[in-house]
Amino acid sequence: MYRAIRMPVLAALAALSFGAAAQVAELNLYSARHYQTDEALYANFTKATGIAVKRVDADDAAVLARLQSEGSASPADVVLLVDAARLWRAEVDGLFQPVRSKALDARIPTTLRGKDGGEGPQWFGLSTRARIIVYNKAGVKKEDVDTYAALADPKNKGKVCTRSGSHPYNLSLFGAQLERLGEAKTEAWLRGIVANMARPPKGGDTDQIKAVASGECLIALTNSYYLARLMRSERPEDRAVVEKIGMVFPDQAGSGTHVNIAGGAVARHAPHRAAAVAFLEYLASDEAQAYFANGNNEWPAVAGLKIANPALDAMGPFKAETLPIAVVGMNQVKVQRLLDKAGYK
Ligand code: FE
Repeated sequence: MYRAIRMPVLAALAALSFGAAAQVAELNLYSARHYQTDEALYANFTKATGIAVKRVDADDAAVLARLQSEGSASPADVVLLVDAARLWRAEVDGLFQPVRSKALDARIPTTLRGKDGGEGPQWFGLSTRARIIVYNKAGVKKEDVDTYAALADPKNKGKVCTRSGSHPYNLSLFGAQLERLGEAKTEAWLRGIVANMARPPKGGDTDQIKAVASGECLIALTNSYYLARLMRSERPEDRAVVEKIGMVFPDQAGSGTHVNIAGGAVARHAPHRAAAVAFLEYLASDEAQAYFANGNNEWPAVAGLKIANPALDAMGPFKAETLPIAVVGMNQVKVQRLLDKAGYK
């Protein structure tokens, strides 16, 4: 009883004596990313700013559901999500607010940010991943799968497997194709992929890689970091998978490989807005970019920044598409309609 009364008094005194400083000394982070290197990442921010980071770790869908249900009472300051399709959806659902920051403008390429509606973008890419093609080396020649178009080529009939067409990773890739090819050609391409499937879509990206290795199918799409993770694994079963597969960055002779992002935003009702912006700016610093990207075997969003990652080094440099990622996210509604027409589950 004594404690119950005394605690709020102490808190009130602390707020009075430290004023504004006490109010920004913490930050609530809702994160769909959780990797070993996160601890060092957040500890370094706290060391530099005195702002404690309180984390709510959940997957993307759970983070979004929680923000929705909490509404204006949400304690969330910063939100970390993966894929432009999800970031765009959250923006449209009114879960973020615009941020005007010289540091972020200078560091994060315009193609990797949300659309600037006048008051600044509502989200910023912090790391990049490529949507690559993997193939079974014993059954497929690299030159038969070196473009996204090849996924729909009749020569690859019965060989292709993918996760659900409606998953954000595919919605974004297909949205990029839509931007480039237009509706009719994109629909024809999606029908071609469906016609080439070895089995109905199921599982995640790692499941597709394993299905390619086992021969259940011979060609699949995956985000680059899932392959990098297997390449860096010491488990014999993962080594065996990596032995059997080849990888290709599609469309190197054309418009480049589709690249997506993991990104951050300031929550719509952020109680600690200044701290939230400072945190996003910190994540764009050289030091934090290396932690953030390496934690999930991704590339930094900041251009020209080199990180030491043996799997990414082994994959080699590649030409990335240059479409603004905000456009790609925006196209997902149209893409879903095309998927339904093409019978792509
Ligand atoms: Fe993922």
